[in-house]
Amino acid sequence: MTEEKLSCGNCGVSGVQLWRPYGCFYRPEDNRCEACAEEDQKKPKSPEGFSIGWYVPLVMSDDGDVWGFSSAPDKDVEAWSQMPKNESPNKHKSGEQ
Ligand SMILES: [Zn+2]
Repeated sequence: MTEEKLSCGNCGVSGVQLWRPYGCFYRPEDNRCEACAEEDQKKPKSPEGFSIGWYVPLVMSDDGDVWGFSSAPDKDVEAWSQMPKNESPNKHKSGEQ
């Protein structure tokens, strides 16, 4: 078991942008997709797109290590940004007010 499948620790979705609590020791079960992170934090994603409350992007290096977000290289942040989002289904309603 060398390859770990990354997924949301709440709803189990994988293959999407994942988020992790900032400043905590990395634990896969704490990963959250965008919708679950917003639900957890009761906050929408920040305008610049790199935080949801105290969640930050879960950025992986090529060899599968998890970067501390402030030290992640641009190319790996870019790769994260290219992944599909699992947006909250409620988002459109609240965003249209
Ligand atoms: Zn989720």
